[in-house]
Amino acid sequence: EQVSIGVDVGGTKIATGVLRGDQLLSRHVQPTPETGWEAVLDAIATQVQDLQTAHPDARLVGVGIPGPLNADRTRVKFAPNIYGFTDVPMVDGLRDRLGQRIILENDAKAAALAEAHMGAARGTESSIYVTVSTGIGAGIVLNGRIWRGRHGIAGEIGHITARPGGPVSGAGLDGALEAVASGTAIARDASYALNRDVSTAEAFTLAEQGHPAARRIIAQALRHIGIALADLQKTIDPEVFVVGGGVASVGDYFFQGVQRAADEYAAGFAPVTIRRAQLGPDAGVIGAALAARHG
Ligand code: BGC
Repeated sequence: EQVSIGVDVGGTKIATGVLRGDQLLSRHVQPTPETGWEAVLDAIATQVQDLQTAHPDARLVGVGIPGPLNADRTRVKFAPNIYGFTDVPMVDGLRDRLGQRIILENDAKAAALAEAHMGAARGTESSIYVTVSTGIGAGIVLNGRIWRGRHGIAGEIGHITARPGGPVSGAGLDGALEAVASGTAIARDASYALNRDVSTAEAFTLAEQGHPAARRIIAQALRHIGIALADLQKTIDPEVFVVGGGVASVGDYFFQGVQRAADEYAAGFAPVTIRRAQLGPDAGVIGAALAARHG
């Protein structure tokens, strides 16, 4: 039975766990340090060392990061939603701290691998996993393998242009998909409209209760996501989409809005098959642990 450690680094928390076969053991969560990348690497190293003390056979380590990596997967180009995370020598930095080589993977690509092997896309030849959370990202799986593209950035759909001239993303691009449709964007627009702090979850609750501004803001976000899926259907034409991440986890209201726009914009071309992610918040940890095994 293969054993590996998965680390899922997010904008707000770092989750770690040991994957034995396809069983996730000892899941641990801690806040992401907000004092720069060195502190994040220290936190990851401590977590991994603790897990390896408890599970001495867990030698393989995979780390998922919410940002694009360089082509040979040794550095993080930038992580738009983590403070101070630009051009980070992740593999070298963790080798210095742990004395071993870790495998680096983008968070959405890691989750895509997990859903393709053990979740909602199991048994398909081609799938695209999309995460809608603080940011928006995707992992494209073709014949069971992640498609990276020439420079390693394939799937960076959070930074495709949804509304030129619109709000600017963490990567500095105006009207980027994640600047108009992520959890961050929904909370920002709802807070502005209601003139107080409104979380993404509350915005959805208000919309479901019929609050006009919340309905309009969320309808617009879901429409942008649905249009992006229709565009991907026309570009890649996958068998299925699997959609996960904190925002998608609200359920029916989210999926109905996305499906409606996807159907509208892919009409006459192909059906857009959208499934809900099955692995929930564990997808990132499982995916990073699987990435470690795939090398
Ligand atoms: C990053 C992606 C990441 C996504 C979800 C985006 O801002 O550029 O690499 O997959 O957020 O975390």
